Amino acid sequence: MPRDSYADGDALRDYIFHLERRIRELEAERAELRRELRRYRMEVDKLLSPPLIEAVVLAVLPDGRAVVKSTTGPNLVVNISSSVDPKKLTPGTYVALNQRGSTIVEVLPEREDPYVKAMEVIEKPRVTFEDIGGLEEQKRELYEAVILPLTKPQLFRDLGIEPPRGVLLYGPPGCGKTLLAKAVAAMSNATFIHVVGSEFVHKYVGEGARIVREVFKMARRKAPAIIFIDEIDAIAAKRIDIGTSGEREVQRTLMQLLAELDGFDPLGDVKVIAATNRIDILDPALLRPGRFDRLIYVPPPDEKGRLEIFKIHTRRMKLAEDVDLHYLARITEGATGADIKAIVMEAGYNALRRGSNKVSMSDFMKAVEKVLKKRRRPYVETSEYFENSMPTGSSVESNVMHI
Ligand code: ATP
Repeated sequence: MPRDSYADGDALRDYIFHLERRIRELEAERAELRRELRRYRMEVDKLLSPPLIEAVVLAVLPDGRAVVKSTTGPNLVVNISSSVDPKKLTPGTYVALNQRGSTIVEVLPEREDPYVKAMEVIEKPRVTFEDIGGLEEQKRELYEAVILPLTKPQLFRDLGIEPPRGVLLYGPPGCGKTLLAKAVAAMSNATFIHVVGSEFVHKYVGEGARIVREVFKMARRKAPAIIFIDEIDAIAAKRIDIGTSGEREVQRTLMQLLAELDGFDPLGDVKVIAATNRIDILDPALLRPGRFDRLIYVPPPDEKGRLEIFKIHTRRMKLAEDVDLHYLARITEGATGADIKAIVMEAGYNALRRGSNKVSMSDFMKAVEKVLKKRRRPYVETSEYFENSMPTGSSVESNVMHI
């Protein structure tokens, strides 16, 4: 009997142990089900709740309210819910208003607006004319046509002269058009707004005209500003036939651009600089007086220009004593500024591969050959250079054959 009662006691303990474990399991399960229930309740709430109203903050008032513009309606003066941190409300912030439109209840996350994405905005570009080799005449013209009217408009008013509304830079790629426009913005203390014509056509199909409008709006907001329209030929080519919808869309974009250009004051604080490699195909409407009426040719650099560009791009480089930039400028006839930049970079890499901390003339010669030959433009024959011992001065010239 005692033995049996012991056995019963053991069985009972096991049973209690089992029940306790089961209780713990069920409690964990209940907690999990509660979490799931909460999730579903929230989901149902989301599905049943009426939509909030989106708005953009225009200003926060000293009395703790805010002025907002709802995306469709008028400007509203609204309250700010206590759950919203007023410090996060700056002009331009997207917010959600409650359904009655009376209170900001949420700050919406920043989003990539297609209009803003279409432009690169540099508040304070840092390039100056010193960073641009050659192009003295072009710099002078830009100074008079853009920098002076932006920085000293009174001078023009006193003299009664009207500066050009728009300037068109034209010439082969890689010769410094973008660089010039950036420097002009920097030297006028202006915001630089960069848009690319071909992107209006390929990336933002159907949005071209609206983006043009937004670009000018943004420029006025960030004035003084320079709008730089690269590859303007993509939206302003002569019209042969505007049959297809794509061509009509390009046409609408151009009309919007012309309307914006006609609409602003030449002495105001927004200027437009456009660039193209194909001036021959531009619609003459664009070049009419009062629009892009100052044309500036940006040619490939001559020897003096190439030397300056070599100097600029090697400014921060450790050069071996044998490096002769004059010679490099001489043998790179036809090279653009972008080519010279590529040559300097490549020479740097050549030195790196050799494990040297100084860039030598032979690094440069290899780079010249690689960069210029890659462009299938055999400007220079450098093989003899490497066959002979390192030449210097004028004797080098005889080793070089311009083709
Ligand atoms: P694209 O028509 O292709 O836009 P672009 O004429 O606008 O060409 P940039 O973008 O200004 O050419 O030049 C490309 C790069 O080449 C520049 O970032 C710069 O490093 C170098 N470069 C071109 N021209 C010069 C120059 N005159 N002085 C110094 N660097 C130059």
